[in-house]
Amino acid sequence: MLTQKQIDEVIVFHGHHCPGLTFGMRIGDWVLQEFGHATDEEIVTVVETDMCAVDAIQYLVGCTFGKGNLVFLDYGKNAYSFFRRSDGKSCRLVTRGNLLQDLREQQNNLHANDNTGREQIRQQMINRILQTNFEEIFSIGSVQVAMPETARIHASKRCDSCGELVMETRLLNDPILTAGKNLCIPCRTALRSEI
Ligand SMILES: [Zn+2]
Ligand SMILES: [Zn+2]
Repeated sequence: MLTQKQIDEVIVFHGHHCPGLTFGMRIGDWVLQEFGHATDEEIVTVVETDMCAVDAIQYLVGCTFGKGNLVFLDYGKNAYSFFRRSDGKSCRLVTRGNLLQDLREQQNNLHANDNTGREQIRQQMINRILQTNFEEIFSIGSVQVAMPETARIHASKRCDSCGELVMETRLLNDPILTAGKNLCIPCRTALRSEI
């Protein structure tokens, strides 16, 4: 169970309280119990969505974008994978169904300026997320990707087209595709659209 202090801190970090953040708090609470907290890179999270829930996971579990132990796959799925480096434990959570469907429909049918109604439904959504059993919301299965590598610091080299410094693993040098030049991703894309 999260403490009121943890809940308040997550809301401050995210900027507002919303159903998506509440989903993230349920996930974060569960992961803290099952996997522990990542002070450094002990835990790696792979998220398949960029919705509000991810902020709660970052804050609570300690898997953050900047630390490199939060990997974002832009799949638009409410799915979250967790890996623990020490023993290789892993799992993937994915939502079973549209838990809030009826409430979302009610919200859509509200009059555009019915802020009281909107606020009431928002609160009902949050309550439902808090009161539903975790395993009714999420199915817990095995991961579909390998554990991401440890974040490493790579050397930077200049892109031969724009002249900006680029992490060397993001430069492409190919005799045909880039005519032997070191090119960054946007310069490569620009080159392709010229052809
Ligand atoms: Zn939000
Ligand atoms: Zn470039």
